[in-house]
Amino acid sequence: MNSISDILSAVDDLLHGFEPSPPSLARCYTEAQIWDNAPLWAILSQGAQHHADKVAIKDAVRELTYRQLLEQADGIAKRFQEDGLVMGDRVVIQLSNTCYFAIAFFAAQRAGLVPVMALPAHGLAEISHFFAVSQAKGYICERILESPESLEIADTLSMSDNSLTHIYAIKHHGKYLAFHPSSQPGFTPPKVIPEHPALFLVSGGTTGLPKLIPRTHNDYLFNIRSCVEVSDITANDIYLAVLPAAHNFTLGCPGLLGALSKGGQVIFSTQAGPDHCFDLIENHSITATALVPALAQLWTEASEWETADLSSLRLMQVGGSKLAYSDALAIQTAFPKVLQQVFGMAEGLIACTRLGDAPAIIAAKQGCPVSKWDEIRIVDNAGNPVAIGEEGELLTRGPYTLRGYYRAPKHNQVTFTDDGFYRSGDKVRMDEDRYITVTGRIKDVINRAGESIATDEIEAHLLCHPEIAQVAVVPVADTHLGERIGVALVCKGEPLTLQNIRHFLKSKNLAAFKMPDELHLVHSLPKTAVGKIDKKSVPGPNGKPWMLNTYR
Ligand code: AMP
Repeated sequence: MNSISDILSAVDDLLHGFEPSPPSLARCYTEAQIWDNAPLWAILSQGAQHHADKVAIKDAVRELTYRQLLEQADGIAKRFQEDGLVMGDRVVIQLSNTCYFAIAFFAAQRAGLVPVMALPAHGLAEISHFFAVSQAKGYICERILESPESLEIADTLSMSDNSLTHIYAIKHHGKYLAFHPSSQPGFTPPKVIPEHPALFLVSGGTTGLPKLIPRTHNDYLFNIRSCVEVSDITANDIYLAVLPAAHNFTLGCPGLLGALSKGGQVIFSTQAGPDHCFDLIENHSITATALVPALAQLWTEASEWETADLSSLRLMQVGGSKLAYSDALAIQTAFPKVLQQVFGMAEGLIACTRLGDAPAIIAAKQGCPVSKWDEIRIVDNAGNPVAIGEEGELLTRGPYTLRGYYRAPKHNQVTFTDDGFYRSGDKVRMDEDRYITVTGRIKDVINRAGESIATDEIEAHLLCHPEIAQVAVVPVADTHLGERIGVALVCKGEPLTLQNIRHFLKSKNLAAFKMPDELHLVHSLPKTAVGKIDKKSVPGPNGKPWMLNTYR
């Protein structure tokens, strides 16, 4: 039995370094019933109440009904308690897309543990960092196909000096604790406080190690509910989790939790390629999924020759990075009427186009906030609001947007305004109807001989070239210019030359000082843990990362 003092001390420690919403706003959100004042696991307990014998989750080898998922989660939650983990303790979960992900996630929730949602592609540096910041006691991992070092991380962590005391390696118990339900019957979940963190998402930033984003029971339930509403998720939906399940997009926008919250079904896939996923769509009558643009592009190309019946698909969300206009048009041709652009951040704000919007809007814009309670400010360099339709940095605040990264006081000072708006670093325009168009990142700028050049402007032009599949424009160190413009290209067919692309950009009336200085042709561009183009790792001609490592 865990002692009350252990629990109090774990919850106290959890709250150290957590920035809650101010009490006046919290009251307002509660009174307006934006916040449900319920634990996040209510999604599963309600599912088990209303859809007990319906299949909730499936992967390549198993399936569980809502009742079985709750029983499994409770059995493991009880095991956690027996092993000495208590409400408020943090656990790092690093699992691939299988039923174990859902079992571990809900088991942690039922036990009142707070999971740090690591992605399968995170390596020792990131995972060690998550432990250092969160002081997590538990690590739930497995041998992950994409990450040969996954169990080595457990081995290394177990031998180093850190907060880790409990390692659960699924299917590799020998050395570690068994990830098996307790043999003792009965489980009563501890009473969590819905305004406390329920999970930590990890930031997908371009610099440094990821930061921890506390998401409370209240805010995440509202996030999920709002996304469910705008995407019309119902019990008939069958959601394909193809991007990493731990990422906000797949987890809760509306993602797998959104599908489960309505009594729908989730199919987990460990492979993202179209050959595999198209078969899943046909065999399971998948209705909804979420992709990053590079993957959507791959699926679109494959739809020309793959023969699977994809007619059940009614919602293809594409987001996480900018979807080029030409790619959006191609998706709309290959998969008519299913595209929904999503512009969102693990920090909170989610905006998306609606399925009923005009196709031209869906192709060109990233969408409007999912809640009328999302407050948006677009500001110029001096922090002053710009006029409607003008470009500026997006600042946001609202019932599901964080008020501070976890245990990062210095960073929070510059990332939040005095009145609690999160500075997203995204450059956007917003129309009268609150539809947002993302135009780039504030800091994605090359300083070439004193001129500031936005990399996204050059990228957007180059993506209109019929022979270019993917592009990354990066600042490259230069003794004379300070920085020069490097372009890494994936060509569709014949290789292009520097002269070809300069000529093309000139025809688009781009200023002479914005002309690329150097071109490097590659077969593919490196991706982040969730599949976005990772500029930091784009290789230069010598095979080493090309971008200046002092990227601002
Ligand atoms: P993450 O927290 O990993 O979801 O990353 C959030 C960031 O991804 C945002 O702040 C944007 O910079 C970028 N992002 C997400 N969705 C889009 C989109 N549809 N278009 C352009 N950028 C996006």
